[in-house]
Amino acid sequence: MNIILFGPPGAGKGTQAEKLKNHFEIPHLSTGNIFRANIKNETELGKKVKSILDAGDLVPDETVVDIVVDELQKPDYENGYILDGFPRTVPQAEALDKFLESKGTAIDTFLMLVVPEKELVDRILSRADGRSDDSPEKVKRRLDVYRKETEPVLNYYKKKGLVEEVNGVGSVEEIFDRIKNTLQ
Ligand code: AMP
Repeated sequence: MNIILFGPPGAGKGTQAEKLKNHFEIPHLSTGNIFRANIKNETELGKKVKSILDAGDLVPDETVVDIVVDELQKPDYENGYILDGFPRTVPQAEALDKFLESKGTAIDTFLMLVVPEKELVDRILSRADGRSDDSPEKVKRRLDVYRKETEPVLNYYKKKGLVEEVNGVGSVEEIFDRIKNTLQ
């Protein structure tokens, strides 16, 4: 099962992706986690993307696509995966499709977590993990970037008939139950 978990910042993608990973025993590929780990370990990639993440902007498509394509070629991903935070632009979605087609595979489901904007901001600002991009100005910037660059990705997959919308308001378990029901 190849899943894209999609939604605005603060929708709970990371939390639900971890639960899906444990439930279906398939890897969770989060581009945000990859960038944060590289920043923490002060790698070349980390140095390159730190100011971009801090500003709430997007890492260039080419950089992100290279990372994801490298990762998806690993044998761990043969039995399915959950993509979280990727694709975030239409060119990224197109590049992913091109790569998957060349491998004779495809995305099975595009899960959209639907959460009202007011709740997103409250959730991010009360998040306990102290992310450097979680301040009020950065959150506003990330939501603007989401609306402008990322939301069109939803239509891209709608045209392919792959979108399943899941209500992302409720307890972690309630939302996870909805996701499981949708995938069944
Ligand atoms: P996330 O953890 O998914 O919220 O991602 C945190 C930050 O990493 C984003 O605000 C971007 O700066 C960067 N990032 C993560 N995934 C992508 C992507 N697919 N394309 C561009 N930038 C990304």
